[in-house]
Amino acid sequence: MARKRNKPLPVTVDGNNIKAYLYFHKSLEGTPEGYDETYADMCVNGITRYWSEAGFNVEIIRLKESLKVPHVKVLPAKLTRTSYVMSPAWRWIWGFFKNFHPEAMMLNWSPSNPGNIHLNLRFFKDKNRFERVSAHEFGHVLGLGDAYGAHYRFFYEAPGTEDYMMNHNRKVSPEEALMVKRAHETGKMQYFPMKFSARKYASGLRKKRKT
Ligand SMILES: [Zn+2]
Repeated sequence: MARKRNKPLPVTVDGNNIKAYLYFHKSLEGTPEGYDETYADMCVNGITRYWSEAGFNVEIIRLKESLKVPHVKVLPAKLTRTSYVMSPAWRWIWGFFKNFHPEAMMLNWSPSNPGNIHLNLRFFKDKNRFERVSAHEFGHVLGLGDAYGAHYRFFYEAPGTEDYMMNHNRKVSPEEALMVKRAHETGKMQYFPMKFSARKYASGLRKKRKT
């Protein structure tokens, strides 16, 4: 059952309808060399394409200014050479203790605080990849955890998720579509199964050191 709320939300999922208010930082309104679209255009196109393919009607509203309407910010990634979704710092520690999940450390997700998207612009060379990464990061904003063997998953890849958006940025699977709906029905972030293996963790750390 859909929950009734008076407060407008930055992202709503109502059945198959996704509606999101996004505010793009000015650096994403620039056009990368060799292209005739802005980063923001490509981000919106990627989100719309991949989430529509999974059966959603996707409506993205681009705010001109960071106004009072609740919204998700799309910012250039500064911390790492990858892209990620992060909650504002005041939500971090409490998120970890509330969920006891390592993935909740930086993203303490809730429908009213779905986090902000940070996209890596420095290593931009492939429009298709940028669009897929945008769709993946939007998956976090919709309340999904990662499925790939990230370090905060102790390098454990969720079984059977090779083709998933939250693993290799491939396509939004029916399971991921259901998880998004569940996140919005329950107000809780949906995580993929995780297992800890000391051997896998050690070899993951070794590989990570080499890259
Ligand atoms: Zn991710």
